[in-house]
Amino acid sequence: MYFKELAGYLERLEGTSSRNTMTDILADLLKHAGGTEIDEICYLILGELVPAYRGLEFQIAEKMMIAALAAAYSTTREEAARRVAARGDVGDAAYDLARDHRSLGKRMTVAAVYRAMYGIAEDAGEGSQERKIRAMASLLSSLDPLSAKYVARIPLGKLRLGFSDATLLDALSLMVTGDKSGRRAIERAYNVTADIGALASRVKRGGLASLSRLHATPGIPIRPSLAERLNDINDVVKKAGPIVGVEVKLDGFRTQIHVWREKGGVHVRLFSRNLENTTAMFPEIVHAAKKLPVQSVILDTEAIGYYARTDTFAPFQETVQRKRKHEVAEFAARIPLAAFVFDVMYRDGTSLVARPFRERRRHLQDLLGRRTGAGTIRLAGQRLTDDIDVIKAELTQSVNKGLEGLVVKNLSAPYEAGSRGFHWIKLKANTAALGNLRAGGAGGRIKGLPDTIDCLVMGAYRGRGKRTKFGVGGFLLGVPGRDERFYSLSRLGTGMSDEQFRELGRRIKAHEVAAMPKEYVVDKEVAPDIWIEPSLVVEILADEITRSPRHSAGRGRDRRGLSLRFPRLVRVRDDKKPHDATSADEVSSMHRRQKTASSK
Ligand code: AMP
Repeated sequence: MYFKELAGYLERLEGTSSRNTMTDILADLLKHAGGTEIDEICYLILGELVPAYRGLEFQIAEKMMIAALAAAYSTTREEAARRVAARGDVGDAAYDLARDHRSLGKRMTVAAVYRAMYGIAEDAGEGSQERKIRAMASLLSSLDPLSAKYVARIPLGKLRLGFSDATLLDALSLMVTGDKSGRRAIERAYNVTADIGALASRVKRGGLASLSRLHATPGIPIRPSLAERLNDINDVVKKAGPIVGVEVKLDGFRTQIHVWREKGGVHVRLFSRNLENTTAMFPEIVHAAKKLPVQSVILDTEAIGYYARTDTFAPFQETVQRKRKHEVAEFAARIPLAAFVFDVMYRDGTSLVARPFRERRRHLQDLLGRRTGAGTIRLAGQRLTDDIDVIKAELTQSVNKGLEGLVVKNLSAPYEAGSRGFHWIKLKANTAALGNLRAGGAGGRIKGLPDTIDCLVMGAYRGRGKRTKFGVGGFLLGVPGRDERFYSLSRLGTGMSDEQFRELGRRIKAHEVAAMPKEYVVDKEVAPDIWIEPSLVVEILADEITRSPRHSAGRGRDRRGLSLRFPRLVRVRDDKKPHDATSADEVSSMHRRQKTASSK
């Protein structure tokens, strides 16, 4: 396919906010794509070159792109910068410049453009900035205006077509079966090998049948299993029992550890909750993983600052310092880290995803049992019980230790990759549950919310009163709907410290956009002064979910949506992508359960 044709599809995708229309356009594109280019096309339309787990970054700042535009279209950097500022978008500016320059472009194929972009991304080291600018300029000058528009956006992460992997999975089904009947099989495969490009190539070449042979593979992340919430702790045994596995919920970084031996070498890759490659962040885990007595293994763990001598865990604020890319060694020395292993999905050539948890746990004991007391990779503790009083006592104990709560597990469940369900139930300490338990009231029944809610920051209101000094006076929060659009849920204002205000105000700067993103559903009444593209997720604690005519999340036939009472910022969740935020459906279901709980 010529890149110009792909640009035509991108232009159509940009022009719609209807998920059905997007799915149709994508399915048409995928049908037209050849078997050897479909993977590259999938990555490109998601604004990337490789799946996130490979961790290839362009390392191109807007300033560099402006320099490339200037060189490509024989103008000055000042003029190119002026055009970008005037249009508020680097892609639109590239389009104008290419048009004025009468760039007709060569007929470059998708593969040729992809190769050129890949070369630019890979170039590193001394002098690479200048080389990247030159190569980008040369690529842009070979393209027609529409192609230039999209090629200029991708390296800056500004493609933003308003859909995510979920829509692409639907489109793949449409491509291969003509309807959505293939979606389940495709999603199952994607859950255990989260590489959408590789998956698309496979479906294109071998059809749906080829997916049944697809299993977890060391080196390719598995989509993490997620935990369900519960309002009434008394229901936990009924939902996951009769005997359940009770584990402490540690508050660190979800870390998937992959180890495999190949050609005499041992390879380790670590992935975060949103499947990014975090191998470079945790050298001591990599070091310990290499020593595991396995041919190959995939482990699910929580990495957390841990002081073995006193058996205490670092609070999240301390563990999080490990995220700084440049001071890994220094922080590794200061904050010792341990990965607490709570699941295993693969061992020595065999996928364990479909095996019951009690069997997977036996594998863990076999593999790590003797190491429980020492080392960087440790077996997470677990208590088996069918007694609700034991669970309540464990929760209280976990709370008293300053931990997040518990995860209660169904021993018969498979590893539910990519889905939230009662196979894992989280009982959290930082919610109203805590108050009830501490006060000994309501027998552990929760009156407020059983969990925090992760929201997208959609925009900001200009400052009023004492907070003007921060530049903004509050934020608009939203949650994703089933159609992948974002619906407003609440304002966030007073429930923040000055420090948090300053940080959030600073963090949104890079993501401001001139107009409301097309995938937002926000009533005029609550429209913020500043719009922010979908990028930043924050964890919010609230007293209650209420009905509201102003917000669009969970809006029913009576036109009333849902909102939060007394929202407070817990923290920014860098480990979550916008579509990983709590969904509008989940908020609705929490609202319904809140009503049943209070009427009990
Ligand atoms: P959620 O992400 O909201 O579904 O809550 C589950 C999260 O708790 C996981 O993503 C892990 O990061 C964390 N966690 C901590 N300890 C455990 C454990 N023992 N089992 C499962 N998840 C755990």
